[in-house]
Amino acid sequence: MNVRKELLHIVEQVHSLAPILAAATRVIADRLAAERCSAFLVDEHGHVARAVSHAPPSSGAVDGVLEVEAERIAARVIAERRSLATRGVTTAIVAAPMLLRDTLVGAVVLQRGDGREFSAEERETLATTCAQLAGIVQNARIIDALDRGERPVPPVSPQPFSATGDGERILRGVGASPGIAIGNSLFRGVFRLDSAAESFAGVPAVERARVRTAIEKTHNDLLRIQQAAAREIDEEHALIFASHLLLLNDSVLLDRIERAIGRGASAPLAIDTVLAEFEARLRPVSDPYLQEKTDDISDLRTRLLDHVLDVDDRARVGHCVVVTRSIPPSLVIELKAEGVQALVAEIGGATSHGVLLARAMGIPAVTGVAEMPTVVRPGDLLIVDGTAGLVVVRPTDETVAHYEGLHRRAERARTEHARFRDRPACTADGVRVELQANVGVAADLVVARDNGAEGVGLYRTEFPFIVRDAFPTVGEQVRIYRKAYELFPAGRIHFRILDLGGDKFVAGSTVGGARSAFHGYRSIRVLFDYPDVLRDQVQALALAAEDRPLRLLIPMVSSLEELRRAKAMITAALSALDEPRAQRAPEIGAMIEVPAAVEIAGDIAREVDFLSVGTNDLMQYALVVDREDPRMAPLSDPYHPAILRMVARVAVAAKGAGKPVGVCGEIAVRPDVALALMALGIESLSVVPTAIPELKQALAGMRLAPLQRTIATILALSDASSVAAALREACAA
Ligand code: PEP
Ligand code: MG
Repeated sequence: MNVRKELLHIVEQVHSLAPILAAATRVIADRLAAERCSAFLVDEHGHVARAVSHAPPSSGAVDGVLEVEAERIAARVIAERRSLATRGVTTAIVAAPMLLRDTLVGAVVLQRGDGREFSAEERETLATTCAQLAGIVQNARIIDALDRGERPVPPVSPQPFSATGDGERILRGVGASPGIAIGNSLFRGVFRLDSAAESFAGVPAVERARVRTAIEKTHNDLLRIQQAAAREIDEEHALIFASHLLLLNDSVLLDRIERAIGRGASAPLAIDTVLAEFEARLRPVSDPYLQEKTDDISDLRTRLLDHVLDVDDRARVGHCVVVTRSIPPSLVIELKAEGVQALVAEIGGATSHGVLLARAMGIPAVTGVAEMPTVVRPGDLLIVDGTAGLVVVRPTDETVAHYEGLHRRAERARTEHARFRDRPACTADGVRVELQANVGVAADLVVARDNGAEGVGLYRTEFPFIVRDAFPTVGEQVRIYRKAYELFPAGRIHFRILDLGGDKFVAGSTVGGARSAFHGYRSIRVLFDYPDVLRDQVQALALAAEDRPLRLLIPMVSSLEELRRAKAMITAALSALDEPRAQRAPEIGAMIEVPAAVEIAGDIAREVDFLSVGTNDLMQYALVVDREDPRMAPLSDPYHPAILRMVARVAVAAKGAGKPVGVCGEIAVRPDVALALMALGIESLSVVPTAIPELKQALAGMRLAPLQRTIATILALSDASSVAAALREACAA
């Protein structure tokens, strides 16, 4: 029987609204193979009200977050009067309005938690079903009203969907750093030129005093942030505010501001004009270092104006969600020190260094929220769900209560996961896997150790090179790398040789240039042109290791020529080292993160001591999905058969050469993928440190043997949905 016939059948049996909706949602969910079908109606005031949902008890895959989202999608579909299909990483949603001629009756939302998209045919079926259901619903409403002795009231169509409306809005971006936070929006990088220009000039002596006070307060702010950054992150990172402080102490700057006041300007206007002049002079120079300094001047100008105009938002950062265009590492460090709740950025993906830093610092973040500037206003209440990649703007009390509940549940789950911290990573049928951490800053190392990482599978060494004006000296690098040995004294640390370029660009340097394309000048290719940088780093690592094991990981290897050249440079750096206490016999590994390296993995494996598959880049290059582009995020699918098959080939190649192989890309945080990697013969997994206890708990609840029996069949599947479904089934066995 088709859906239309089934609806007619329902009407023949029941007459009032509630049972009609209950039966209709059941039939629609069933016929369109959805795990949840929710119907929403428009009431007589034009509000969208939840009517009824049908979800079989087994539909655990659709979580509470998406249940809330179904309501938002219904509201949107109703307001826009058209169907909508959207897809997250694992969830597919389709929705259609119930339209009765031009009267909006409500909407139906279908969700699938297994990531299978709704086909065009299924979407069409939903649209026609909704058109039929609209009439049935409206008739049932009239009968219900008459039964109650009331006069039926036609529903009022809601206001058209508007980007600037006052109501609750849900914005989708990339879940860049997990966690939920609620706070008022605070924009960063917005200047207050109007207030500065309009401000009234008092007597020059008073205006000069205002300037000096603003300078002093700004100076104190910067010192405070610097100290907090040094305490919470590390000293190297704290130095990033050095140029702000130098400029603030510049007597020429003060002199110019005071002269402007002498000519009749108010304190804010004088500050604004003089710093704007400095900025304007630097802005046209295309040198990346000078461009970065221009940004520092802009930032300083905002800080001084904040103080002189007494609009010190920074004091409020602690309760706020900071809204910015992008998330550079320096901003994360500063905001962490100021106690920010969460970050929302208009651009960016999930793996840039600023984002990785936010994750290390435990700051929830959503990036790539393109609609943000038009929808969010300063001071708006925002809910940031960094796990689902959602931002709820101006949430209702009900939504706030829902998210507070989710937050409490997440806290309880964290306590539950923590019980697994000190246990080895082991499946329910007793198979061990080495679970390590990906780290980038000192804070990560501490979290990794505290969460029970067995080692560091990937030490990203780029941060100290990215966030400061000058590259760290050999001595500074030795101090940084020694911290890793202090926290992991057995020395199971895989230090990656500098991987500059792509998302890890060095703004102020000729090394790595400005942000270069992912397909261009990056990684080991850059170091070939800067042998001194590579030499210093290798020597610093050898000195930090002393007599402990030293493991070096060469990134982005795409040919044997590159590998051999990099190895020769490492050997030369070590033999040029005349310090007796240094590790001269490192183990050398290659990262397999480009498709060419997969093809020649066996040849590479024979020339190194170990392999590490970097799936973040491998997916980017194999699936042609820019990891920084949020529009590409849904396509970056770890269940794509090509990805698992590539990893399988690398595992076979490594085994053939008798070399260990691990995976250090973020896909391994998913328990089903982690188990699949184990079934493919991957011996170690390295993930973001905060995910370790949860992954240990998940592995302890799954058996490897059933998956080992079916993994060959799963590898032969040809689409991502089938792979995801087969994995889910095998993991539950
Ligand atoms: C990778 O590419 O998978 C990887 C682990 O390295 P990064 O994310 O630092 O590029
Ligand atoms: Mg990489």
